[in-house]
Amino acid sequence: MSECPEQKTNLLGLSPQAMRDFVTELGEKPFRAQQLLKWIHQRGVERFEDMTDLSKALRARLEHCAEIRAPEIVSEQASADGSYKWLVRVEGGSCVETVLIPDGGRRTLCISSQVGCALDCSFCATGKQGFQRDLSSAEIIGQVWLASKALAADGELIKTALSNVVMMGMGEPLLNLDNTVSAVQLMMDDCCYGISKRRVTVSTSGVVPAIDELARRSDPSLALSLHAPTDALRNQLVPLNKKYPLAEVLAACQRYLASMPDRKRRITVEYTLIKDVNDSLEHAAQTAELLRELPCKINLIPFNPFNLVDYQRPSNNGINRFRQRLLEEGYTVTVRTTRGDDIAAACGQLAGEVQDRTQRSARYRRLAAGRPASPDQPVIVRAS
Ligand code: SAH
Ligand code: SF4
Repeated sequence: MSECPEQKTNLLGLSPQAMRDFVTELGEKPFRAQQLLKWIHQRGVERFEDMTDLSKALRARLEHCAEIRAPEIVSEQASADGSYKWLVRVEGGSCVETVLIPDGGRRTLCISSQVGCALDCSFCATGKQGFQRDLSSAEIIGQVWLASKALAADGELIKTALSNVVMMGMGEPLLNLDNTVSAVQLMMDDCCYGISKRRVTVSTSGVVPAIDELARRSDPSLALSLHAPTDALRNQLVPLNKKYPLAEVLAACQRYLASMPDRKRRITVEYTLIKDVNDSLEHAAQTAELLRELPCKINLIPFNPFNLVDYQRPSNNGINRFRQRLLEEGYTVTVRTTRGDDIAAACGQLAGEVQDRTQRSARYRRLAAGRPASPDQPVIVRAS
């Protein structure tokens, strides 16, 4: 039997393989990893003493060298339309947001991958906040764990509480690849939540090398945030496009699909519609042309306003016209209905909370200038 590591290991974020390595390190058989994963992610148990099929000796050992530490729910808000937003405090005191979107029989959880985001898309509240740090895998899967525990009825397995998970909250998941992959593996593993790979979606603004790396390591569904059919326009909306232009991003998406054995899989293309910026019929026609070779479905997201930018949402007529044009070209097109508007939980409105003023980026300080805030108080970075 080997010694415990010096610091307690947080088992919540260990991928299935990392859990096997951990128990082997302790001198235990690999099946103990399965037992631990099931206790934690299927039953939501957080005390080793409650894990009754482990020997007393092992439970005592785990007590000594491991822990199950989730982020903490600071507040929960319910929207009139049935969606929920949890403000979740992560290590260091900052908060990220997690949103539940119930829809018919589906319960989709939208989770965050970073505190803030470095990519600064011109229409995104998270981007305006600047980048603070990556979330750990425990903090990413912790959002799934907390929401599942909150939703499961007493005595019920927590693993069935959610039907879909989308990594479309705060941050760029592919710039936090290791932790994103660990969390995604836990979501899809049969010893954990067992959510099918079609129902776990990683959304990216187009980090080309990381799309290829994701394909090597895992196989969730991929969503591409497109937002513009030309490099000139996309450079303005998604600055990352200057590094990875459209042709390279679309080629990476093609490679992603080609690496999957299931030929029926498609990329979800997200297109945030902004009035008089990217919503003309010409933009629709160009988008149809651009995506001709890519197996995809298109999800139009009417722009969700927040107070730091002047953009506007197109009228319903404008949205329908754009959609109609793409339908005529033979695409599957859905319009994302805005949910949780009253609690600022819609796409791009998630800005979380930053613990300490001094931690905010210079850019955000400039943008937020004029907003009163006491230097001693935590600053709430609200998008609406
Ligand atoms: N960083 C990743 C995932 C998080 S953003 C990405 O960019 O894909 C999730 C989605 O919300 C993206 O498609 C993003 O473009 C969209 N979004 C951001 N701000 C928005 C806003 N204000 N209104 C509507 N959609 C927005
Ligand atoms: Fe970051 Fe995505 Fe927002 Fe762009 S849209 S700033 S990549 S979170």
